[in-house]
Amino acid sequence: MFDSLSAKLTGAFSSLRSRGKLSSADIENTCADIRNALLESDVALSVVDSFIDLIRVKSLAALPNLQSGTNQAQAIFEIVNSELVEILGGAARRIRFAKNPPTVILLAGLQGAGKTTLAGKLAKFYLDQGNTPLLVASDLQRPNAVTQLQVVGESVGVPVFAPEPGNGVGNPVKVAEQALAFAKSKLYNMVIVDTAGRLGVDADLMQQASDIRDAVKPDEILFVVDAMIGQDSIRTAQAFQDGVGFDGVVLTKLDGDARGGAALSIAKLTGKPIMFSSSGEKLTDFDIFYPERMASRILGMGDVATLAEQAKKALDGDSTAKLEEKFARGDDFTLEDFLEQLEAMSKMGSMSKLLGMLPGAGAMKKQIENFDESEIVRTKSIVQSMTPLERRDPKVLNGSRRARIALGAGRKVQDVNSLVDKFAAAQKMMRQMRKGGAVPPAVAQSMGMRPGLGGGISAPNKGQAPAKKKSKSGNPAKRAAEERG
Ligand code: GDP
Repeated sequence: MFDSLSAKLTGAFSSLRSRGKLSSADIENTCADIRNALLESDVALSVVDSFIDLIRVKSLAALPNLQSGTNQAQAIFEIVNSELVEILGGAARRIRFAKNPPTVILLAGLQGAGKTTLAGKLAKFYLDQGNTPLLVASDLQRPNAVTQLQVVGESVGVPVFAPEPGNGVGNPVKVAEQALAFAKSKLYNMVIVDTAGRLGVDADLMQQASDIRDAVKPDEILFVVDAMIGQDSIRTAQAFQDGVGFDGVVLTKLDGDARGGAALSIAKLTGKPIMFSSSGEKLTDFDIFYPERMASRILGMGDVATLAEQAKKALDGDSTAKLEEKFARGDDFTLEDFLEQLEAMSKMGSMSKLLGMLPGAGAMKKQIENFDESEIVRTKSIVQSMTPLERRDPKVLNGSRRARIALGAGRKVQDVNSLVDKFAAAQKMMRQMRKGGAVPPAVAQSMGMRPGLGGGISAPNKGQAPAKKKSKSGNPAKRAAEERG
């Protein structure tokens, strides 16, 4: 969603870095570039102006203390980074759990904002953390909202309290009240209430949401907003703040192409933090909103922390430990290990989304967009068509074996050849890295996940000696990411 903003800001900084020692005119120009980039992405004018004022003042104050142009440019970059984190809400905030369960979360927002979808995502998120959520169907207005919630609940394995059919029938306040009593009696520790929205803000909608609020006294009211609606998201947020009040914001549809900058101004304008973000229709397209990670992405530094978390979630502990042991023993990484990695990768969700989290992803935008997700499935089918011996020792793969594998996988022999060649190159690189003695198991792990082996984007450094370990970055955000890595 923030690709063009990110590209413009990255451009502004690379031109600043190339200028040598900086003058106050350089700062003015950079401030103008940043201001234009933010306005073009729809960030609210008042937010942009106070942001730019701060950047200007802080940058001018920092310049005289720094000798080289590179250090000056870096200092300005850091100032922009930390102010961007502030705009996005500062530190991430988590849901406050009630002292006496259940913790009640009320979802409010316009129709189509993504509340029902989000209810399922939240339920799964908290279920996975060992909670016992109950979903409540209090959207009795939108056609099929109740059924949709039931389907979502079933798919995540969370019960849905839905005594009314909806589609205009039933009292949503009563349903919420009964749900709370039910949750208490059955010891659910969390209640997530889905409410009705309208296509635009109206008095009835606000009244109903306020009545439900008064009936269940939520611990958290989350305002759910579609980031694609641009400046309307700000107007809607302000209307909900006045009409119902809320404690946190959830941005949905961050996967859209529209200028989503408006939504980024919400935290600053309402004083309420963005707590979660949703970036697709799948249940996995959801995460806690971390202002610092979002700022890092917007400034072209990627989001290595989220990538690492997703990898950890997808890779099961046993296979990771097995791979680490193998690596430590000096055994080769085999196609069997590779298959396990491919399977884990499939669990991690969309490859383009994952690649988009890499630092510098903006520069690979085209390749990432063109990444063919089905290539992983095809690659998997080739490896699955091999016998265990062939997977362990690809040297036995003569012409007739390759022809058999191609037939089994429904692919051409060239595809089998290409996979085997790429695999051999990666295996060679791993051996070289191991000889260098500096390969932590985590690197070994990531080697199995190189996108080049899956197809679309070729593996960097293919067949070359490992790149020398770079010196620590002067940029604190990058350095932290390196150290985490
Ligand atoms: P509600 O009326 O607020 O309950 O909205 P829904 O949960 O029914 O969502 C409206 C539409 O938006 C549905 O088609 C969802 O699949 C879709 N949707 C929800 N969240 C996202 C998201 O993060 N990205 C995209 N692309 N679509 C979403």
